[in-house]
Amino acid sequence: MPRFPATSYALCDAGVAQNRIGGTWVDATEGATLPVLNPRVGAPMGQVACSTAADIDEAVAVAQAAQIGWANTPIKARAQVLHRWRVLLETHLDELSWIVAHENGKNFEEGRASALKGIECLEFAIAVPNGLAGGTLQVSQGIRCEHRFAPLGVVAGVVPFNFPVMVPMWMAPLALIAGNAFVLKPSEKTPFGMCRFVELAEEAGLPPGVFQLVHGTRPAVEALVDHPDVKAIGFVGSTRVARVVYSRATALGKRALCLGGAKNHLVAVPDADVEMTATNVVASSMGSAGQRCMAASVLVAVGDTQHIVDAIVAKASQVRLGHDMGAIIDPEAVRRITDHIDAAVAAGATLLLDGRDAKPPEGFEGGCWVGPTILDHVTPDMPAGCEEIFGPVLSIIRTETLDEAIEIENDNNYGNAAAIYTSDGGTAQYAVDRFEAGMCGVNIGVPVPREPFQFGGWNASRFGHGDITGADGFRFWTRGKKITSKWALASDNTWMS
Ligand code: NAD
Repeated sequence: MPRFPATSYALCDAGVAQNRIGGTWVDATEGATLPVLNPRVGAPMGQVACSTAADIDEAVAVAQAAQIGWANTPIKARAQVLHRWRVLLETHLDELSWIVAHENGKNFEEGRASALKGIECLEFAIAVPNGLAGGTLQVSQGIRCEHRFAPLGVVAGVVPFNFPVMVPMWMAPLALIAGNAFVLKPSEKTPFGMCRFVELAEEAGLPPGVFQLVHGTRPAVEALVDHPDVKAIGFVGSTRVARVVYSRATALGKRALCLGGAKNHLVAVPDADVEMTATNVVASSMGSAGQRCMAASVLVAVGDTQHIVDAIVAKASQVRLGHDMGAIIDPEAVRRITDHIDAAVAAGATLLLDGRDAKPPEGFEGGCWVGPTILDHVTPDMPAGCEEIFGPVLSIIRTETLDEAIEIENDNNYGNAAAIYTSDGGTAQYAVDRFEAGMCGVNIGVPVPREPFQFGGWNASRFGHGDITGADGFRFWTRGKKITSKWALASDNTWMS
């Protein structure tokens, strides 16, 4: 069974993240597990079940049976259950934040912020009966048309390691309020947070089986996508896997929305407020140790912006590892990030700040660490200028004009976020109008749309139609049913029959 004992950064045993099927913790049928690393400590904190197709079959069958009663529960009563869940999540906020800090390596405060953002998504779902109800209209004499949002049945979500409780909450509340049963496959690197979320959902009154957890790796995902009774797949992760999952699901005629990776460009022009820009760019590129799909990855410094670059380097130098910035998810990711830094230097980039030899926090020397790193004079064709590094590395590209900067942003394959730093409204408008990204910022480096606005990128950052949160998210997990009725005694003399 999973346990949730953490109250500080000290390593503790979280047990086994088992599958949650029908309200019970169960091992995967073949009994296989993988170790789960605490990245800050660099030692295992527990195990995670490795599910096979047999586990997926069982989870989906139980979910299918449970979904019937849940779909027949009035939507306002479903909202009441979700509301009680929200209260419990807030009551257990510290506990949930520590779980995220342990399995992901984030600071406690970052874990807390991510849990709160997940709760905000839940609040949106609770309000769905008020804001996104279907509608009815008299369309002819005595004839009414009604639109309903009907659930799909059993639906599934597959999520990445970097926001272990926030990203699942982009999907689960909206899928559940719609009357679906939801099967979640958390990242095998961070499986514990959602174990506690599901326990608390059941404590709030969610019927067992309506929210199932199946842990594991690629075979579990493939079995979920292929299962004939799984009607829709939501996926968030790297572009490579998003593309594969999207193709596989849509080839089977399924509904799929798959969010991928990112390479976000922040553009600074000379009139930008120096203090605010520097603070913001550092927070965007180094927060969550750069392991965010919305993190600043490239700073395009336009014209005479040396004073801004100097301020960014000065601020980033003050970031304390383990205090202001958390750990990297695992040793393999540390290698990928440091290889990128090595390669950029070899290709001619200038290292303004080197995180490769940053000093780990005392007592956590065995953890997975890379300090804030800033590379200058990167070119757009260098891997550091165009590939997702997913670590605390800011690549600076220099241009003479704003149009060149916009062209560099536009030429990038991805399209999650882009931002402009300026004190001039016209310049801001000009850039935002031209960025090729789904989420744009003005003087803000992590332009995440808060509820009720929707989250979703463009280009290789998203496969499928629509955004994953907000009204689009609700529509993704539902299908429209249109009912036209004539009950009036008066005869209708229009073309309707
Ligand atoms: P990942 O793609 O390696 O894994 C995501 C999920 O897919 C995990 O649950 C994993 O078990 C599963 N998976 C891995 N390989 C698979 C395969 N071959 N077939 C089927 N399933 C597979 O991503 P990650 O390393 O966990 O997360 C980091 C990535 O997620 C980054 O690229 C980041 O940009 C992206 N991300 C994107 C968003 C967004 O909103 N666009 C949000 C968060 C993270």
